[in-house]
Amino acid sequence: MTLTLKHFIDGQAVDASDAATIALVSPVTEQVFATSARGTRSDVDRAVAAARAQLDGGAWSRLNGAARGLLLFRLADLVQRDLELLADMDARCIGRSPMEPRMMDIPNAIGTLRAAAGWADKLEGRTIPTGGYMGMPTLSYTRLEPVGVVGAIVPWNSPCMITTWKLASLLAAGCTVVIKPSEETPLSALHLAALCQEAGFPDGVVNVVTGLGEVVGRALCEHPGIDKVTFTGSPEVGREISRVAGASFKRVALELGGKSAQIVFDDASLEAAVRGCAMGLFVNQGQVCAAGTRILVQRAIAERFTSALVAAAESIKVGDPAQPGVTMGPVAKREQFERVNRYIAQGIEEGATVLTGGVAAHDVGWFVRPTIFGGASNAMSIARDEIFGPVGTIIVFDTDEEAIAIANDSSYGLAATVWTNTLARAHKVAHAVRVGAVGVNCWSPLDPNLPWGGTKSSGLGRECGLTGVLSYTEEKVITVLLP
Ligand code: NAD
Repeated sequence: MTLTLKHFIDGQAVDASDAATIALVSPVTEQVFATSARGTRSDVDRAVAAARAQLDGGAWSRLNGAARGLLLFRLADLVQRDLELLADMDARCIGRSPMEPRMMDIPNAIGTLRAAAGWADKLEGRTIPTGGYMGMPTLSYTRLEPVGVVGAIVPWNSPCMITTWKLASLLAAGCTVVIKPSEETPLSALHLAALCQEAGFPDGVVNVVTGLGEVVGRALCEHPGIDKVTFTGSPEVGREISRVAGASFKRVALELGGKSAQIVFDDASLEAAVRGCAMGLFVNQGQVCAAGTRILVQRAIAERFTSALVAAAESIKVGDPAQPGVTMGPVAKREQFERVNRYIAQGIEEGATVLTGGVAAHDVGWFVRPTIFGGASNAMSIARDEIFGPVGTIIVFDTDEEAIAIANDSSYGLAATVWTNTLARAHKVAHAVRVGAVGVNCWSPLDPNLPWGGTKSSGLGRECGLTGVLSYTEEKVITVLLP
């Protein structure tokens, strides 16, 4: 039996205005397992009206920071209660092993809600000394006010975690929201909205409209009732969103893709570097924005490191994640499967060597073997473009300067890792790479207190931590004449 999913607007589960639906297909079996409402512009109008009503004088707008924090703490407890359910929802939609979201995504989401809850009553303004007004003294102070109604557009790769990054910060700041989940992964966003209702958030504060990006996402970007659009997804769509939403001067935050470098120096602990690089490359089938897909290895250890990384890739068991021993599921959808295979074929055409893996034959399910290229240069498309699959490219370097230059020779700038046992080199390289986050001898952790975001084509703005909460506020200045 297939599940039937509806929008969640103003506290109610509702169909699309024209009753249209989208089929959700399992990447493992290629069978339809659910349908979701295919949202229309009028569904978006309804959701924005509900969110506006709460922001502009509704019960939500009258709650203070401590009350908002309490609701967020309650929501965190409910997410904790439903941890396995939420993890399974995300895993089912994209064919991922449920162990990963159980151990990483949902615990991160819970931590993010609690961290933001703690900030909700600590958003302080400042008093600022001024030169006065026409010879008379004044008092000037600032207030941090909610930016308004937010349109949150989310991708499919870590849906619950990324939705929560946005939700936690914007609710702590006092905003309301219309969430547009990815076409493939609406389950966890709808469940989160229901949990918000159970936690006691007033109806209309959190709304979810499911459907197509070009319809629902675009309507949010154009809607005069939306004050800020926060988007996580591909650079192509990010550019379009910033053009459409920017036209009406909406605030825009973009978390986009990456082609992150993992830089392994010859003084690194080899075993730890191999383990870390393999994880950075293959977790979630490589469908991770920060995936470390360019592996830069210093010449003296290149051979040893490469054979160990190939062995690590070959130890991964690909298949239905529900089967025991399977550590990697399929990629999330047919387009993704075709894209990954296209890039592998292109890598071979451009002269790189497949050390393990390679183009996948299609039987049932979108399975791709972990693939590593050697004999590659940073100019090849497999080193320049975000493939968003389990494909890594090894590039050999000689000096620190060369490693930094290769790492920075990318249109992206999301994350990097540096593997070395020399303290000064670690800091020097970490400072020199133009990215949002660097891990030294580890993969940069996604911690609720650490800001997350990229430079260059990897995005605009930061999510999580205090920086994330502040990004949903406007600083207002008030000056009082003191004659
Ligand atoms: P995508 O850009 O195709 O879609 C993302 C969302 O945008 C979806 O909800 C989609 O429906 C919507 N959308 C599509 N067209 C739209 C339009 N014209 N107007 C408004 N909304 C529209 O991305 P994806 O395939 O879902 O996700 C993969 C991408 O996300 C990768 O590039 C990945 O690196 C990136 N990502 C980045 C981060 C980060 O934190 N930087 C995290 C996860 C994923």
